[in-house]
Amino acid sequence: MAGLLDLPEAAVLKQLAPKRRLYARWPARKRATSWWKRLMGQGPQKDDPPLGELRLLEDGLAFRNSNGEQVSHIVWEAPFTVQLSAWPYDPSQQGNTAELNLLLRPRDMAAGGTPLALRTLWPTDSLPVGLSHKQEFFPFVDPVFFKALWSWLSVCLSVHGSALPRGGDMNVDDAILGDLHSHNEVFTCVSCQSQDVTLLAARVYRCNQCGYEGGPGMADLLKQRRRMAIERMPPDERRESALNDYREARRLLLSAQGTMKALYAYTYRGNRDEAELERSQEAMGIARMVIEALEHIEEAGIKDPERFQDAMEPLEKELTFARGGATFILASNYSDSVASGLKIIGETLIKATSEG
Ligand SMILES: [Zn+2]
Repeated sequence: MAGLLDLPEAAVLKQLAPKRRLYARWPARKRATSWWKRLMGQGPQKDDPPLGELRLLEDGLAFRNSNGEQVSHIVWEAPFTVQLSAWPYDPSQQGNTAELNLLLRPRDMAAGGTPLALRTLWPTDSLPVGLSHKQEFFPFVDPVFFKALWSWLSVCLSVHGSALPRGGDMNVDDAILGDLHSHNEVFTCVSCQSQDVTLLAARVYRCNQCGYEGGPGMADLLKQRRRMAIERMPPDERRESALNDYREARRLLLSAQGTMKALYAYTYRGNRDEAELERSQEAMGIARMVIEALEHIEEAGIKDPERFQDAMEPLEKELTFARGGATFILASNYSDSVASGLKIIGETLIKATSEG
Protein backbone atom coordinates (compact mmCIF):
# COMPACT_ATOMS: atom_id res chain seq x y z
CA MET A 1 0.00 0.00 0.00
CA ALA A 2 1.39 3.36 -0.99
CA GLY A 3 1.67 5.71 1.99
CA LEU A 4 1.45 9.45 2.26
CA LEU A 5 5.21 9.73 1.99
CA ASP A 6 5.12 8.18 -1.48
CA LEU A 7 3.07 11.10 -2.78
CA PRO A 8 4.97 13.64 -4.91
CA GLU A 9 3.81 16.38 -2.51
CA ALA A 10 5.96 14.80 0.21
CA ALA A 11 8.95 16.48 -1.46
CA VAL A 12 8.10 19.59 0.55
CA LEU A 13 9.20 17.74 3.69
CA LYS A 14 12.74 17.56 2.35
CA GLN A 15 12.81 21.32 1.83
CA LEU A 16 11.57 21.91 5.34
CA ALA A 17 13.85 19.43 7.08
CA PRO A 18 16.86 21.75 7.55
CA LYS A 19 14.64 24.29 9.33
CA ARG A 20 13.50 21.99 12.05
CA ARG A 21 14.58 24.05 15.02
CA LEU A 22 11.82 26.56 15.02
CA TYR A 23 10.60 27.54 18.40
CA ALA A 24 11.79 30.53 20.27
CA ARG A 25 11.96 31.22 23.92
CA TRP A 26 10.31 34.51 24.81
CA PRO A 27 12.85 37.29 24.99
CA ALA A 28 14.39 38.16 28.31
CA ARG A 29 13.78 41.87 27.82
CA LYS A 30 12.35 44.25 25.31
CA ARG A 31 14.79 45.26 22.65
CA ALA A 32 14.70 47.93 20.01
CA THR A 33 14.63 45.51 17.10
CA SER A 34 11.79 43.09 16.73
CA TRP A 35 12.64 39.83 18.47
CA TRP A 36 10.69 38.15 15.77
CA LYS A 37 13.23 39.33 13.20
CA ARG A 38 16.13 38.45 15.42
CA LEU A 39 14.89 34.97 16.02
CA MET A 40 13.45 34.14 12.69
CA GLY A 41 15.76 36.19 10.49
CA GLN A 42 19.09 35.58 12.16
CA GLY A 43 18.37 32.51 14.21
CA PRO A 44 18.34 32.29 17.99
CA GLN A 45 20.90 34.43 19.82
CA LYS A 46 23.28 33.02 22.36
CA ASP A 47 21.30 34.50 25.23
CA ASP A 48 17.98 33.33 23.83
CA PRO A 49 18.05 29.55 23.99
CA PRO A 50 15.04 28.08 22.23
CA LEU A 51 11.89 27.20 24.08
CA GLY A 52 11.94 23.88 22.38
CA GLU A 53 12.32 22.32 19.01
CA LEU A 54 9.83 21.46 16.37
CA ARG A 55 11.23 18.43 14.59
CA LEU A 56 10.19 17.17 11.24
CA LEU A 57 10.52 13.45 11.33
CA GLU A 58 10.06 11.02 8.52
CA ASP A 59 6.81 9.85 10.05
CA GLY A 60 5.50 13.07 11.48
CA LEU A 61 5.99 16.26 13.41
CA ALA A 62 7.24 16.34 16.99
CA PHE A 63 7.79 19.03 19.57
CA ARG A 64 10.49 18.64 22.21
CA ASN A 65 10.65 21.08 25.11
CA SER A 66 13.88 22.63 26.27
CA ASN A 67 14.56 19.64 28.53
CA GLY A 68 14.59 17.45 25.45
CA GLU A 69 11.36 15.66 26.36
CA GLN A 70 9.09 14.95 23.43
CA VAL A 71 5.83 16.51 24.54
CA SER A 72 3.69 16.28 21.42
CA HIS A 73 3.73 14.29 18.26
CA ILE A 74 1.62 14.08 15.11
CA VAL A 75 1.95 11.02 12.90
CA TRP A 76 1.36 11.67 9.20
CA GLU A 77 -0.20 8.31 8.46
CA ALA A 78 -2.60 8.34 11.44
CA PRO A 79 -5.69 10.47 10.75
CA PHE A 80 -5.67 13.82 12.54
CA THR A 81 -7.83 16.91 12.53
CA VAL A 82 -6.95 20.58 12.44
CA GLN A 83 -8.50 23.39 14.39
CA LEU A 84 -7.72 26.98 13.48
CA SER A 85 -8.46 30.16 15.37
CA ALA A 86 -7.08 33.66 15.09
CA TRP A 87 -6.24 36.69 17.18
CA PRO A 88 -6.17 39.86 15.06
CA TYR A 89 -4.04 42.64 16.48
CA ASP A 90 -5.39 46.13 16.93
CA PRO A 91 -5.36 47.51 13.35
CA SER A 92 -4.49 51.03 14.51
CA GLN A 93 -1.24 49.77 16.02
CA GLN A 94 -0.28 46.59 14.28
CA GLY A 95 -1.76 47.07 10.83
CA ASN A 96 -2.91 43.99 9.02
CA THR A 97 -1.54 41.33 11.39
CA ALA A 98 -3.19 38.43 13.18
CA GLU A 99 -1.91 35.50 15.17
CA LEU A 100 -3.06 32.28 13.58
CA ASN A 101 -3.41 29.37 16.02
CA LEU A 102 -3.20 25.81 14.84
CA LEU A 103 -4.13 22.77 16.89
CA LEU A 104 -3.50 19.33 15.41
CA ARG A 105 -5.26 16.48 17.13
CA PRO A 106 -4.99 12.73 16.37
CA ARG A 107 -8.46 11.36 15.68
CA ASP A 108 -7.59 8.21 17.55
CA MET A 109 -4.94 8.64 20.22
CA ALA A 110 -4.55 4.88 20.49
CA ALA A 111 -3.30 4.84 16.91
CA GLY A 112 -0.39 7.06 17.92
CA GLY A 113 0.38 10.71 18.43
CA THR A 114 -0.60 13.45 20.86
CA PRO A 115 -2.06 16.92 20.17
CA LEU A 116 0.36 19.49 18.87
CA ALA A 117 -0.28 23.22 18.99
CA LEU A 118 1.54 26.07 17.35
CA ARG A 119 0.99 29.61 16.30
CA THR A 120 2.16 31.88 13.53
CA LEU A 121 1.53 35.37 12.17
CA TRP A 122 -0.72 35.92 9.18
CA PRO A 123 -2.18 38.92 7.35
CA THR A 124 -5.65 39.45 8.83
CA ASP A 125 -7.26 39.88 5.42
CA SER A 126 -5.81 36.56 4.21
CA LEU A 127 -7.16 34.43 7.06
CA PRO A 128 -9.62 31.63 6.28
CA VAL A 129 -13.21 32.77 6.78
CA GLY A 130 -15.21 32.32 9.95
CA LEU A 131 -12.34 31.59 12.36
CA SER A 132 -13.18 32.13 16.01
CA HIS A 133 -11.20 34.89 17.68
CA LYS A 134 -9.08 33.50 20.44
CA GLN A 135 -5.77 34.44 21.94
CA GLU A 136 -3.64 31.36 22.48
CA PHE A 137 -0.12 31.22 23.82
CA PHE A 138 1.23 28.42 21.70
CA PRO A 139 4.87 28.51 20.58
CA PHE A 140 5.45 30.55 17.45
CA VAL A 141 6.74 29.28 14.16
CA ASP A 142 8.03 31.38 11.30
CA PRO A 143 5.17 32.26 8.88
CA VAL A 144 7.28 31.37 5.84
CA PHE A 145 7.89 27.93 7.31
CA PHE A 146 4.24 27.67 8.25
CA LYS A 147 3.18 28.32 4.67
CA ALA A 148 5.27 25.40 3.44
CA LEU A 149 4.17 23.17 6.30
CA TRP A 150 0.54 24.07 5.60
CA SER A 151 0.78 22.85 2.00
CA TRP A 152 1.87 19.45 3.33
CA LEU A 153 -0.75 19.43 6.11
CA SER A 154 -3.45 20.12 3.51
CA VAL A 155 -2.37 17.01 1.60
CA CYS A 156 -2.47 14.89 4.79
CA LEU A 157 -5.85 16.31 5.81
CA SER A 158 -7.46 15.68 2.46
CA VAL A 159 -6.08 12.12 2.33
CA HIS A 160 -7.41 11.52 5.86
CA GLY A 161 -10.76 13.01 4.92
CA SER A 162 -10.61 15.90 7.40
CA ALA A 163 -12.29 19.17 6.56
CA LEU A 164 -10.03 21.94 5.32
CA PRO A 165 -10.72 25.51 6.44
CA ARG A 166 -12.45 27.50 3.72
CA GLY A 167 -11.37 30.71 2.08
CA GLY A 168 -8.39 32.81 2.94
CA ASP A 169 -5.09 32.96 1.16
CA MET A 170 -2.61 30.40 2.46
CA ASN A 171 -0.14 31.26 -0.31
CA VAL A 172 0.81 34.75 0.82
CA ASP A 173 4.00 36.24 -0.61
CA ASP A 174 7.12 35.53 1.50
CA ALA A 175 8.06 39.21 1.56
CA ILE A 176 4.71 40.09 3.17
CA LEU A 177 5.04 37.27 5.71
CA GLY A 178 8.58 38.34 6.59
CA ASP A 179 7.30 41.82 7.42
CA LEU A 180 4.81 40.74 10.08
CA HIS A 181 5.71 41.56 13.66
CA SER A 182 4.56 39.78 16.75
CA HIS A 183 3.62 41.44 19.99
CA ASN A 184 6.44 41.29 22.44
CA GLU A 185 5.35 38.77 25.04
CA VAL A 186 7.21 38.58 28.28
CA PHE A 187 6.34 36.49 31.30
CA THR A 188 7.63 37.80 34.58
CA CYS A 189 7.87 35.49 37.57
CA VAL A 190 5.48 36.85 40.20
CA SER A 191 7.64 35.38 42.93
CA CYS A 192 11.07 36.87 42.08
CA GLN A 193 10.39 39.20 39.09
CA SER A 194 12.81 37.28 36.89
CA GLN A 195 11.97 36.98 33.21
CA ASP A 196 14.08 33.88 32.82
CA VAL A 197 11.19 31.45 32.51
CA THR A 198 10.37 28.33 30.52
CA LEU A 199 6.86 27.80 29.18
CA LEU A 200 5.35 24.52 30.41
CA ALA A 201 1.93 24.81 28.83
CA ALA A 202 -0.23 27.51 27.33
CA ARG A 203 0.34 30.56 29.57
CA VAL A 204 2.03 28.51 32.28
CA TYR A 205 5.69 29.01 33.09
CA ARG A 206 8.37 27.69 35.40
CA CYS A 207 10.83 30.25 36.71
CA ASN A 208 14.41 29.17 36.04
CA GLN A 209 15.67 31.34 38.92
CA CYS A 210 13.41 30.38 41.82
CA GLY A 211 11.46 27.39 40.54
CA TYR A 212 8.03 29.01 40.90
CA GLU A 213 5.35 27.64 38.57
CA GLY A 214 2.46 29.84 37.61
CA GLY A 215 0.97 32.09 34.97
CA PRO A 216 -2.48 33.02 33.73
CA GLY A 217 -3.05 29.49 32.40
CA MET A 218 -2.19 27.75 35.68
CA ALA A 219 -5.79 27.47 36.92
CA ASP A 220 -6.81 25.64 33.75
CA LEU A 221 -3.83 23.35 33.97
CA LEU A 222 -4.53 22.44 37.60
CA LYS A 223 -8.18 21.82 36.79
CA GLN A 224 -7.18 19.50 33.99
CA ARG A 225 -4.74 17.64 36.27
CA ARG A 226 -7.38 17.27 39.00
CA ARG A 227 -9.87 15.93 36.49
CA MET A 228 -7.36 13.31 35.41
CA ALA A 229 -6.70 12.36 39.02
CA ILE A 230 -10.45 11.94 39.62
CA GLU A 231 -10.75 9.66 36.63
CA ARG A 232 -8.13 7.36 38.10
CA MET A 233 -9.88 7.04 41.52
CA PRO A 234 -11.80 3.85 42.39
CA PRO A 235 -15.59 4.50 42.87
CA ASP A 236 -15.56 4.21 46.69
CA GLU A 237 -12.75 6.65 47.00
CA ARG A 238 -14.50 9.01 44.62
CA ARG A 239 -17.68 9.12 46.71
CA GLU A 240 -15.70 9.62 49.90
CA SER A 241 -13.75 12.40 48.28
CA ALA A 242 -16.98 14.05 47.05
CA LEU A 243 -18.28 14.10 50.63
CA ASN A 244 -15.12 15.85 51.74
CA ASP A 245 -15.63 18.40 48.98
CA TYR A 246 -19.15 19.23 50.19
CA ARG A 247 -17.89 19.56 53.76
CA GLU A 248 -15.11 21.84 52.66
CA ALA A 249 -17.47 23.89 50.47
CA ARG A 250 -19.80 24.37 53.42
CA ARG A 251 -16.96 25.39 55.72
CA LEU A 252 -15.72 27.95 53.17
CA LEU A 253 -19.20 29.35 52.54
CA LEU A 254 -19.88 29.76 56.25
CA SER A 255 -16.53 31.41 56.71
CA ALA A 256 -17.27 33.77 53.79
CA GLN A 257 -20.61 34.58 55.43
CA GLY A 258 -18.93 35.57 58.67
CA THR A 259 -16.55 37.93 56.89
CA MET A 260 -19.37 39.30 54.81
CA LYS A 261 -21.40 40.21 57.88
CA ALA A 262 -18.41 42.10 59.23
CA LEU A 263 -18.09 43.87 55.89
CA TYR A 264 -21.72 44.97 55.96
CA ALA A 265 -21.24 46.29 59.46
CA TYR A 266 -18.21 48.37 58.45
CA THR A 267 -20.01 49.88 55.53
CA TYR A 268 -23.11 50.94 57.41
CA ARG A 269 -21.08 52.49 60.19
CA GLY A 270 -19.89 55.03 57.62
CA ASN A 271 -16.31 56.32 57.63
CA ARG A 272 -15.90 54.91 54.16
CA ASP A 273 -12.54 56.26 52.99
CA GLU A 274 -10.63 55.24 56.06
CA ALA A 275 -11.61 51.63 56.01
CA GLU A 276 -11.79 51.26 52.28
CA LEU A 277 -8.58 49.36 51.70
CA GLU A 278 -9.30 47.03 54.55
CA ARG A 279 -12.78 46.42 53.26
CA SER A 280 -11.59 45.80 49.73
CA GLN A 281 -9.19 43.18 51.03
CA GLU A 282 -11.98 41.54 52.97
CA ALA A 283 -14.15 41.59 49.88
CA MET A 284 -11.35 39.89 47.95
CA GLY A 285 -11.06 37.31 50.71
CA ILE A 286 -14.79 36.60 50.54
CA ALA A 287 -14.64 36.25 46.80
CA ARG A 288 -11.72 33.83 47.02
CA MET A 289 -13.46 31.68 49.61
CA VAL A 290 -16.67 31.51 47.61
CA ILE A 291 -14.84 30.74 44.39
CA GLU A 292 -12.92 27.97 46.14
CA ALA A 293 -16.16 26.60 47.57
CA LEU A 294 -17.68 26.57 44.10
CA GLU A 295 -14.67 24.65 42.83
CA HIS A 296 -15.21 22.01 45.50
CA ILE A 297 -18.87 21.78 44.56
CA GLU A 298 -18.00 21.44 40.90
CA GLU A 299 -15.52 18.68 41.65
CA ALA A 300 -17.93 16.85 43.91
CA GLY A 301 -20.43 16.91 41.04
CA ILE A 302 -17.87 15.23 38.80
CA LYS A 303 -16.90 12.64 41.42
CA ASP A 304 -20.38 11.66 42.49
CA PRO A 305 -23.03 13.02 40.11
CA GLU A 306 -25.82 10.84 41.53
CA ARG A 307 -25.74 12.44 44.96
CA PHE A 308 -25.31 15.98 43.63
CA GLN A 309 -28.95 17.18 43.98
CA ASP A 310 -29.35 15.90 47.54
CA ALA A 311 -25.99 17.13 48.69
CA MET A 312 -26.64 20.61 47.32
CA GLU A 313 -29.88 21.18 49.23
CA PRO A 314 -28.30 22.07 52.60
CA LEU A 315 -25.90 24.43 50.77
CA GLU A 316 -28.66 26.47 49.10
CA LYS A 317 -28.91 28.98 51.94
CA GLU A 318 -25.18 29.64 51.97
CA LEU A 319 -25.07 30.02 48.22
CA THR A 320 -27.92 32.54 48.31
CA PHE A 321 -25.97 34.49 50.88
CA ALA A 322 -22.87 34.39 48.66
CA ARG A 323 -24.91 35.74 45.76
CA GLY A 324 -26.15 38.56 47.96
CA GLY A 325 -22.56 39.29 48.96
CA ALA A 326 -21.52 39.50 45.33
CA THR A 327 -24.31 41.97 44.58
CA PHE A 328 -23.19 44.02 47.56
CA ILE A 329 -19.56 44.03 46.41
CA LEU A 330 -20.66 45.17 42.97
CA ALA A 331 -22.77 47.99 44.36
CA SER A 332 -20.10 49.21 46.80
CA ASN A 333 -18.39 52.42 46.00
CA TYR A 334 -14.74 51.43 46.13
CA SER A 335 -11.97 53.55 44.66
CA ASP A 336 -11.13 53.02 41.00
CA SER A 337 -8.01 50.99 41.69
CA VAL A 338 -9.84 48.21 43.48
CA ALA A 339 -13.26 48.62 41.91
CA SER A 340 -12.39 47.03 38.59
CA GLY A 341 -10.91 43.94 40.23
CA LEU A 342 -13.85 43.60 42.57
CA LYS A 343 -16.31 44.11 39.76
CA ILE A 344 -14.89 41.14 37.88
CA ILE A 345 -14.99 39.01 41.02
CA GLY A 346 -18.53 40.11 41.80
CA GLU A 347 -19.71 39.28 38.30
CA THR A 348 -17.96 35.91 38.42
CA LEU A 349 -19.62 35.13 41.73
CA ILE A 350 -23.07 36.10 40.57
CA LYS A 351 -22.69 34.04 37.44
CA ALA A 352 -21.26 31.03 39.29
CA THR A 353 -23.76 31.04 42.13
CA SER A 354 -26.73 31.52 39.78
CA GLU A 355 -26.03 28.38 37.82
CA GLY A 356 -27.78 25.12 38.60
ZN1 LIG B 1 11.15 33.32 40.11
